[in-house]
Parts: sequence; structure tokens; C-alpha cells
Amino acid sequence: MSVSAASAAATSSATVPAAPLPVLGREVRVPLVTGGEVEYAALDYAASAPALERVWNDVAAYAPYYGSVHRGAGYLSQLSTELFETARADVAAFLGCRADDELVFTRSTTDSLNLLAAALPEGCEVYVFETEHHASLLPWRTAAVTHLDAPRSPAEAVATLESALEARTGTGAALVCVTGASNVTGELWPVAELARVAHAHGARIVLDAAQLAPHHPVSLRELDVDWVAFSGHKLYAPFGAGVLAGRADWLEDAEPYLAGGGASRAVSRRADGGVDVEWHTGAARHEAGSPNVIGAYAIASACKALTEAGFDALVAREQQLVARVRDGLAAIEGVRVLGLFGPEAERVGVLSFVVSGWNSSHLAAALSAEYGIGVRDGLFCAHPLVRTLLGADAGAPGECGAPEGGSLNAVRVSFGAGTPDEH
Ligand code: PLP
Repeated sequence: MSVSAASAAATSSATVPAAPLPVLGREVRVPLVTGGEVEYAALDYAASAPALERVWNDVAAYAPYYGSVHRGAGYLSQLSTELFETARADVAAFLGCRADDELVFTRSTTDSLNLLAAALPEGCEVYVFETEHHASLLPWRTAAVTHLDAPRSPAEAVATLESALEARTGTGAALVCVTGASNVTGELWPVAELARVAHAHGARIVLDAAQLAPHHPVSLRELDVDWVAFSGHKLYAPFGAGVLAGRADWLEDAEPYLAGGGASRAVSRRADGGVDVEWHTGAARHEAGSPNVIGAYAIASACKALTEAGFDALVAREQQLVARVRDGLAAIEGVRVLGLFGPEAERVGVLSFVVSGWNSSHLAAALSAEYGIGVRDGLFCAHPLVRTLLGADAGAPGECGAPEGGSLNAVRVSFGAGTPDEH
């Protein structure tokens, strides 16, 4: 079942099935300002998701065998190296990588996109919608960047990109950067169609899958995207690693992202006193320093757990929770759910809203202090998008939940494998 089928099937009155993949922290109790305590309701998966129990168990089982990767003759170093490289292969399989793709373990989506930005060919143009998370909006500092206006439908997104690329005068390299699912609205973007348009105009495309990958299968091959980036901590593997996977050529041609051991194959002193370096090819070129083997191992464990459980069960449950919250919010006067693409848009389990006359930060603080519900408030590292949604779309600030004269912000609820079905 796809997100769209699951969301069409979801009604707020349906019984929510049990969570198919247990996560850590389901029984954590938190204090309430009114006295007493309550089981914590995590509704902030879009910021960071708890570890799956399976991931935690896999990490705990490996931890005693931890050793240095690619740097030791001892048994534990060899074992850790093997596990690290197996994790790479497992994650590549999860992402539907092509045979000649490269997969670099990074720290996060932000790190992955900054790595790609550092590897852009000379003179590369970048096309990015203003609606992107700052991690995909901001890394392209040395490139000629075209910021595309917020579209009001997936079809308009495709048309906007098409006309921007048609207007291109340069013939050099170009890159489109797009999110798969918005971290503000949860709306799905038409990635495969954007990829088709990018390629038709000789551009490449990188998919920010930080919010898509936890809810939806992501295949480089099927979507025909050139790179994909995501973070382990949003995919139930919060151990400090992320991924950039895709075309090897730009990564091979670039200077190493970080200089140091691991990225260098041979270093020698020159007669003039300087130093010559022969850099590695392959993923090692951009993985200088001791790699985060536990983080990589945890991501691979999460990928396997998600694949085995199947996204269908996860998504169907999330969509029922979204429907319940959406219908509940709709029944409250003054609530407005934010979206670019209209109420019928396909969404993952992420939803932001404002309440007329309420400061969203106060609301989020009250949900935590009085009910033990963890949500996020603010502009969600997507300032231009939230401003567009709250300003242009909403009329006067007072009508969209900001206090008079106060800052514009919103409340976000987001769901995942361990979100409780009641509270
Ligand atoms: N892209 C999107 C769509 C996100 O939601 C986030 C984080 O919220 C990021 C990128 C950045 O992820 P990270 O903070 O793990 O680098």
C-alpha cells in the first residue's frame, strides 16, 4: 500500500492497529506541571525518532566487538571493518542503488548535502525551491543558485522547474535539489517527475529524503534520482550517522570533503619540504577520520527492520493517526492546518497547524507541561516556507495564530513507529 492508498483508506474512527515495530522509550513517564506524571506521547518524529528496539539490540550485541575500521590487524578491527562495509552494502540495497553508485556515510542529511555541495563541478548551477529545509536550501554557497517560488500543487512544481530549466542559458553542469516530503506540511513532492524534467534538460537531481525515507520506500533506480541524502536519527537509528548515495563521478572528481587519514592513500614529503598526497577513490575519499561504525551499523539495522516489517503496515497506521489528529483539529474553531498543495494532498505523518489567537510556542509548551505531549513549534528550519504558509496564505498574523505583534510560527505534530494510539 502506498502513502496515497493508505491515506485514502484512513479515517479517524478506524481502530488503530498495534505498532508493527517497537521503539525504545514507549513507557517513559514525564512530570506534569499540574502534579503527577504521565506516559510521554512522542509526536515529534520529524525532528528525531527513537531507536527501534531491534536497532538498539543489534548495536548492544555488536558493541563489545567494537574496533577501529580500516585501521587494524586485530580480530575486532577486521570484524568491525567487515560490519561497516556490510552495512554500506545493506543500505545501498535499501536505497535501490545502481551498481556503480557510491554510498558515503556522513553525519546527517545536512552533512550529506554539504558534501555534495563541496563536490559540485566548477560553474555548476543549482535549482532549489524556496520551500526547502535549510539543509537543502543553504549548502550551495559557491554555486549560481536559482531559488524557485513555492508551487501550489505538485503539477505546478514540475512546471516551475521545467520553465526555469528551459530558461537556462548555460550548458555546464546543473543540479536540482528537492525534498521528498516536507518537514513542515508532510506533503509529498513529485520526485520522479522532477527527476524526469531535470534529466530532460541535462541537469542532475538530489533527493533530500530526510522525511521521506522513514515513511516510504526510496529507490534511486525507480525514482531515477542521481543522489539521495538522509539521516539515521530520523530513521530510528539515532547514533550520529547519515548517508549520501548516488553517482560516483562528481564525488570522485572532487577534493576530499575532509582532509586527513582514511581519505589519503599515500602521503610523502617532497624535496622542497612540502607534502604530496594521493587521495583515495571511492567512499573512503570523503570519509576521512575514524568512521562512525556504530552509526552506520545502526542505519543498516533500521533499513533491514523496515524492509522486513514492510512500509505498508507502518504507513497505514501512521495515516490513521494523522487522520484522527486532522479530524480532531478540524473540529476546533480557529485551527488551520498548513499546506501548499491543498487538503487532498498526499502526506506522510507530519502535520503543522496554527490556532487563531494562540502563540504556537505557548501552545506547544502547554501540550508538554499539561499533557506530556512532545511536539515542535517554530519555523522548523524552513523559514521561507513557513513564512509563505503563514503570511501570504493566511492574511493578518493575528488570524493565523501569532500573538499580536509577535513572531509567526506554528505547531508541528509528527508520527512514527512508536507513536501511541491514544493518550
Ligand atoms: N531535510 C529535511 C526535510 C529535514 O526535515 C531535516 C531535519 O529536520 C534535514 C534535512 C536535516 O537533517 P539533519 O538535521 O539530520 O541533518
